Amino acid sequence: PSWPRTQGVEYRDLQDILMNTPDAEMAKKWSKYYTSGPHLAGKNLSQAIWTKEKWQQFGIENTLIVDYDIYVNYPKGHRLALLEKTEKSNRGDPTVTSAEATWKVKYEASLEEDVLEEDGTSGLPDRIPTFHGYSASGNVTAPFVYCNYGTFKDFQELQAANISLLGKIALIKYGRIFRGLKVKRAQELGMVGAVIYSDPGDDGDVTDENGNTTYPEGPAREPSSVQRGSTQFLSFAPGDPTTPGYPSKPGVPRQPVDHAIPSIPSIPISYLDALPLLKALNGHGPKASSFNKYWEGGGLGYKSVEYNIGPSPSNVALNLVNEQEYVTTPMWNVIGIVNGSIADEVVVLGNHRDAWIAGGAGDPNSGSAAFNEVIRGFGMALEAGWKPLRTIVFASWDGEEYGLLGSTEWVEEYLPWLQQATIAYLNVDVGTVGPDFKTSAAPLLNKVLIDTVHLVQSPNQTTANQTVGDVWNHHISTMGSGSDFTAFQDFAGIPSLDMGFSFGRKNPIYHYHSNYDSFDWMERFGDPGFHYHATIAKIWGLLAANLIETPVIQLNATDYSIGLEKYVDSVKAKAKEMKFENEPTKSHFHSLDKAIARFQSVAQSHDALAAKLLQQAIDDDIPWWKWWERVKIYYAIRRVNTKYKLLERQFLYAPGLDERPWFKHIVFAPGKWTGYAGATFPGIVEAIEEGDKNGVYKWIGISTGIVEKAAEWLDE
Ligand code: GLU
Ligand code: CA
Ligand code: ZN
Ligand code: ZN
Repeated sequence: PSWPRTQGVEYRDLQDILMNTPDAEMAKKWSKYYTSGPHLAGKNLSQAIWTKEKWQQFGIENTLIVDYDIYVNYPKGHRLALLEKTEKSNRGDPTVTSAEATWKVKYEASLEEDVLEEDGTSGLPDRIPTFHGYSASGNVTAPFVYCNYGTFKDFQELQAANISLLGKIALIKYGRIFRGLKVKRAQELGMVGAVIYSDPGDDGDVTDENGNTTYPEGPAREPSSVQRGSTQFLSFAPGDPTTPGYPSKPGVPRQPVDHAIPSIPSIPISYLDALPLLKALNGHGPKASSFNKYWEGGGLGYKSVEYNIGPSPSNVALNLVNEQEYVTTPMWNVIGIVNGSIADEVVVLGNHRDAWIAGGAGDPNSGSAAFNEVIRGFGMALEAGWKPLRTIVFASWDGEEYGLLGSTEWVEEYLPWLQQATIAYLNVDVGTVGPDFKTSAAPLLNKVLIDTVHLVQSPNQTTANQTVGDVWNHHISTMGSGSDFTAFQDFAGIPSLDMGFSFGRKNPIYHYHSNYDSFDWMERFGDPGFHYHATIAKIWGLLAANLIETPVIQLNATDYSIGLEKYVDSVKAKAKEMKFENEPTKSHFHSLDKAIARFQSVAQSHDALAAKLLQQAIDDDIPWWKWWERVKIYYAIRRVNTKYKLLERQFLYAPGLDERPWFKHIVFAPGKWTGYAGATFPGIVEAIEEGDKNGVYKWIGISTGIVEKAAEWLDE
């Protein structure tokens, strides 16, 4: 037998094609298409069909649309008003009978983003109202409390200061954690509504009080901009909340949703709409600065805000109205497949197509535009005669914004095949909204990722020929959540990564989930020239090609073991901080340490064997008549590859995490109270956080068992 190898086109030539095909002008054209009309989840069939046809034109004939019936909400109406009870009550005036007569509207929030002449998308007639995905309908009138970022800790501090939360509306800043978890905590504490605003104080250095102008003239935040977004609870499970763990095909049973999405109404607002509310708290309740300095916001116009916590006095209240229509409606993934000669080794590439708004030039369509360039590159290679070694799947997901809907339902549907065959999932959500390369990855993928970013020239060079890798800070975050890799990594145990170019404190503000995430913004501020679009396409394509074509699969087990070591250290630090440092805990950690050390030595041997086999495949100098030696090496490669392919799966624990059984991975999960940021060894960490000693022992035991078994399995 011959080694597994590329056919038709040499690997180097394939690399050249994938490096040279992605083109800034073409990406700009795709961006223009995707951002020229509403493409809310379940409302973008025309863009799904267009995408499918484009991929087929690029040469991916086997492209189809896969649909699911998913439970979601669409906005019907909303209102936010600041009310004040006037001195003139209806007492003594027999003609005034309605109680409302005593309340006067002090401020009616616009709840709208301004139409800007310089921004075509901002004025589209059918633009999408500002609202929260999976928010509850409701009409509440209540005093309100300023709750900072609405983190678990922020609410703890409010409770510690005896601020009355029960029956109040929470006024919360965006930032730090996933917005759904802000609403979740407010609801758990008996609050009756949540209003979440964007604070320019969190916008970095482009928003100082005196300097920089706002969009569209300048780089600072457009004051009326609003961040839409999902308020699903995430920590429960992503995907259709009525079908946790199984696909939302027509006719399947549907589960109740109360534990998965809010029951109190919430709306997102701009900082312009937040200002009068914050001012109304002046003088009421403790100063925010008495908690700590992070409790004060900042930015334009905020000098008139004294930052009091509230609650607002009894003669001041908010009226919050949120009207949502809930439906079960089709959503469409576009799936393109290129079969390789090895049928059961698969690499999946994915990006979501749906956006909260008509634009979405950054989120997600900078990724979608780049994706088309990646696929066009692979199409060119196929046309040149390339026969891929492994199978590639391209996925354009629908419904990411509401809760990773399209990707999760698809993974739930094809779980057995995916778990049997997939070696990696490569996600790009926001392809580019700034110059800084950012990534999170399963450690198995660290090496191939680092290798690849050093192949591609950076659009931003301080000296000639700098690659993206050269200008990158080399930080790889652990997998959390917030995009479509979640079901792959945490539910199916498929090593995944997520990457894109992001913005720093000095770069133009990215209007996340706002009308101003538009083509015009992208062209003027985000990626003028669309060079970062082409760059992320090159990285994505080359990364996939490496995993698809290298005879020995380019995963690195040693990096996984190093990761485990690091994670367990951080768990120990946490245990110490929470005073879980008594003897039994120490000895329990001891067994986990030992298991990880064993895993490390087995991983190192596996990687060494893999490197040796790869060298033999490359040298290819064993004569044909020593066929038995060739057979031996051939099967050794196949065996090594199968181990790499299935290694991440060994870290799944079928019953799942204690309060969120959908999450099966014992090493990676979204933080229970962060959402976006990842937790490592989440079972142990959550038990520590809850002060549950037995839970800590139990999860150290489970983790030790799993790491031991993984080491043994890899060693076989
Ligand atoms: N990426 C979306 C967001 O951050 C969806 C995340 C989710 O629902 O998990 O709002
Ligand atoms: Ca489901
Ligand atoms: Zn996105
Ligand atoms: Zn988004």
